[in-house]
Amino acid sequence: MAALSLGKYMKYELVLFDADGTLFDFDKASEEALKKALLLFNIDKWNADTWKIYKKINKQIWDEFELKQISAAELKPERFRRFFSAISVTEVDPKEFSDKYLLFLSQGTYLIDGAEELVEWCYDKFKLGIITNGLTSVQKPRFNQSVLHKYFEHYIISEEIGFAKPQPEIFDYSFEKFRHTDKNSAIIIGDNLTSDIKGGIDYGIDTCWFNTSGASENSIIPTYEIDNLAKLKNILLG
Ligand SMILES: [Mg+2]
Repeated sequence: MAALSLGKYMKYELVLFDADGTLFDFDKASEEALKKALLLFNIDKWNADTWKIYKKINKQIWDEFELKQISAAELKPERFRRFFSAISVTEVDPKEFSDKYLLFLSQGTYLIDGAEELVEWCYDKFKLGIITNGLTSVQKPRFNQSVLHKYFEHYIISEEIGFAKPQPEIFDYSFEKFRHTDKNSAIIIGDNLTSDIKGGIDYGIDTCWFNTSGASENSIIPTYEIDNLAKLKNILLG
């Protein structure tokens, strides 16, 4: 839907949200999916350590993906190959396990605190898009089933278009989708400095880092930083 005429008095017109870790609680979706898949394959290995090991492997492999060292297709079974090797599971096929994990993951639509209220508030004020680095088969069903679905005009999924944040092409694609040309009136909000914030800075738009970890960083400087989604309203009103 188009922004109201009120939009022209505000600084921002196009608001792009990262999905996971920003609006969607991907950690929770991932943890639940992993638990369910382990149960399904009768792997009795669930505990806090297993989760930590998986998260570490998963982060590493997505970092490799960002650096283009591995494709999305290779990433799917490879992360479980590494995970099984780390937890000494030998009898399960990583590819089969991955398929089930992704199916469960695609059903996880848990939200970050304040996400629904914020997006609902944004709805009649800005052009709203989701811009996500993720797997199409996981992200699409999650978005479609989410209570947030109706608020977004476009969902831009990296795997679907062949470019990922921080590449400028994914931003070009988003701007074209929205028929938006003015970089000064666009902002990206995300929790990841190297993809969301660096991507936005390189593209020449404003950025807001959703920093929930309390970490500090001085090589990538966002336009704004928030630790709570409710704080975004004042920023967006300019
Ligand atoms: Mg994120």
